[in-house]
Amino acid sequence: MWQRISCLIAGLVFCSPLVWAEQPESAPFAIAIHGGAGTIEKSSMTPEKERAYRGKLEEAINAGYRVLATGGSSLDAVVAAINILEDSPLFNAGKGAVYTYDGTHELDASIMDGRNRQAGAVAGVKHIANPIDLARMVMEDSPFVMLAGQGAEDFAKSRGVPMVDNQTFDTEQRRQQLERAKEKLDKENKQDKDYRAAVESLPEPFRMGTVGAVALDKQGNLAAGTSTGGMTAKRYGRIGDAPVIGAGTFADNESCAVSATGHGEYFIRYNVAADICARVAYQNKSVADAADEVINDILLPVGGTGGVIVLDGKGNLALTFNTKGMYRASRVAGQKPVIGIFAEH
Ligand code: ASP
Repeated sequence: MWQRISCLIAGLVFCSPLVWAEQPESAPFAIAIHGGAGTIEKSSMTPEKERAYRGKLEEAINAGYRVLATGGSSLDAVVAAINILEDSPLFNAGKGAVYTYDGTHELDASIMDGRNRQAGAVAGVKHIANPIDLARMVMEDSPFVMLAGQGAEDFAKSRGVPMVDNQTFDTEQRRQQLERAKEKLDKENKQDKDYRAAVESLPEPFRMGTVGAVALDKQGNLAAGTSTGGMTAKRYGRIGDAPVIGAGTFADNESCAVSATGHGEYFIRYNVAADICARVAYQNKSVADAADEVINDILLPVGGTGGVIVLDGKGNLALTFNTKGMYRASRVAGQKPVIGIFAEH
């Protein structure tokens, strides 16, 4: 009150321009991204491959950072970063998505706005180049939260989104992974009831590469988004955690923003993203402690592998995983990007 009165007394010269010019500059903003978690070891990666991954992560984090630095929204930053990863064949989202058992691609994505808990998600879409954009459209331009399969694509067409061939997402590396996965699944388990054991025995590269982002903008708003092709050799319209709000994606200004990657069935059953933010909201935990508890103390003992990126309204970040590595990057206001792949960076 006294400040306001003194402002009025001091006059516009001292109050308005200085106060308004300085506020946004001091407001914290930050962004983090991931490109999947799993058995990523330096010994199994060539220097060229490592450079390619680091380069793409840097490009994506900087694209999101630029949006925030110029006063853009956390939602725009999340989408800008994810679009770059979806368009890259290196990651399991958009181009480069894993194959289903039947040799197609079925993509899942979701986004959440921390201001109001609005959310949008699409599951099992086959002809959408950038599923995160469609998830955002569901959030902003429909009365629904999650649309699946043909219905999601009908909605996309009604909003003028171009359809692309499913083969657009093909890559040779993912095709080879499918062949190896099918060999293993068909040899070891002919019956559906054993399918789960066979899927769980597949090495992590068979699903790795999901992408996600969390961001805090200068207005203090959080957002989170996740996009994936799911798991290699998935069948029967299997949907993972990425499009499930509360499992793979969550954002609420009152607590935190989370994007997850890992064995989706576990992330759904343990409601991972929402659980982390609940610990922040109700137990006053830091994002680092909350993420550590859920990923390492709860998921790991039951066999759930993967990781999360978490961000709160003050710009505190946690990039936590219980696997050997997680493709990841972060950048906070005024600092350089930090890129990591392996446990030791
Ligand atoms: N969570 C994704 C899924 O289960 C896969 C991943 O993140 O690696 O569909």
